[in-house]
Amino acid sequence: MIKETMYNAQICSCGIKHDIPVKAIDLGEGALDRMAELLSDLKISEKVLIVADTNTWEAAGRQAEDVLVRGGFDVLSLILNREPHLRPDEEATEKVLAFVGENQGILLAAGSGTINDLVRYAANAHDRQYISVATAPSMDGYASVISALTVNGVKKTFYGKPPLAIIADTGVIAKAPRRMVMAGFADMLAKIVSIADWRLGIALMNEQWCSVAASMSIEAREKVLKNTENISNADKNGIHALTEALVNSGMAIIMAGHTRPASGAEHHFAHYLEMKLAMEGRPEILHGIKVGLGTLCSIAFYNALSSFDPDSIDPTSLSEQLADDKNWEQNMHRVFGAIADEVLGETDIQYRNSLVLKERLEEIKQKWYSDIKPIIDDVPRIEDMLNLIDSAGFNYSPESLGLTIEEMNTVLTYAMEVRPRYTILRLMSDLGLLEKYAAEISCRMFASK
Ligand SMILES: [Zn+2]
Ligand SMILES: [Zn+2]
Repeated sequence: MIKETMYNAQICSCGIKHDIPVKAIDLGEGALDRMAELLSDLKISEKVLIVADTNTWEAAGRQAEDVLVRGGFDVLSLILNREPHLRPDEEATEKVLAFVGENQGILLAAGSGTINDLVRYAANAHDRQYISVATAPSMDGYASVISALTVNGVKKTFYGKPPLAIIADTGVIAKAPRRMVMAGFADMLAKIVSIADWRLGIALMNEQWCSVAASMSIEAREKVLKNTENISNADKNGIHALTEALVNSGMAIIMAGHTRPASGAEHHFAHYLEMKLAMEGRPEILHGIKVGLGTLCSIAFYNALSSFDPDSIDPTSLSEQLADDKNWEQNMHRVFGAIADEVLGETDIQYRNSLVLKERLEEIKQKWYSDIKPIIDDVPRIEDMLNLIDSAGFNYSPESLGLTIEEMNTVLTYAMEVRPRYTILRLMSDLGLLEKYAAEISCRMFASK
């Protein structure tokens, strides 16, 4: 079933007339077989350049090539070697850029996160259009304008061209390994934290709310939570609901023009962990699984403030403590090692300014009951989330990710440094409570399973 995207030209509360570049989504059984007609409907007649890796080639790339050749298209394919890990690093980026540079045509990404990140980046660099063929319900980056690439060992986000069309064949996607379903589920659960963090940004950093993007993200999340059992059983309805939610979450990012609707502290946690594992040569963990643990910890941080008394905030002494912290840069080097300078380049130095902090603490104090407490109260209880995850048979525990308590503690304390964005971790840090609760929550996550 071909679904025209309905999001064009909506005017919303943020005052922007949102124009969505994704022109068609075909989500359903048999979508791959219908692909040649879809491309013709979109008036595409040029050569199709398929990019896949060795796994996604078997999952969808080969079939896409067959369907297009039978439909009369010229096709050329690049299959990237997956062993041992395909990372979106300089080497993989160069390969895709060279392939696209040497050949004319529209790009087609057959794969999930990494393949789409690479193709989206190359499509932008060479000003080509691109079609996304989904192979797993593992992350929300099918509809996206962001490419997360690793440069000098640091995860950075770049502008990437959004896909002209998204093809998500539930027959293909339902065959994805259970771990990828578990990852996609967590990438949606994450929206509890991203939306709450966005609201903090609005309350304290003068950021803008976009009601269309926010409701798309919230509705997608709610649909997934309602379908937890179907998703866990990987039945067709569940996989359909999860894939649709992931696509819509990406669409919310495009609408907003930034990742606030879908990414907050839980993603900073995941980005830091990803860099750490890569730097230490440890096995890669799916994006969504890391996000799952980051989400649970962030929810626990929100819960920890539920009966916080704003009268206990002393802006003068807290901001003086920050000014006294001469070891910060040294600690950053100790924690981030070889990538410390790159990370320091990403950090907003304004967070280290004691005058700015003093003003913000006064604002936090003054806005606690009107603006901040309602955000905290909207975040569900960690116990309920752990029960939900447990009942689905999913697991995002630190043990399952191969982390020690000390590592958890460090990641929670320093995750906020990887992006200059206000989140629950920044709020905890402003209040002088980050280290205390990082230690407590690390222990808590190890105690729960
Ligand atoms: Zn994500
Ligand atoms: Zn808007």
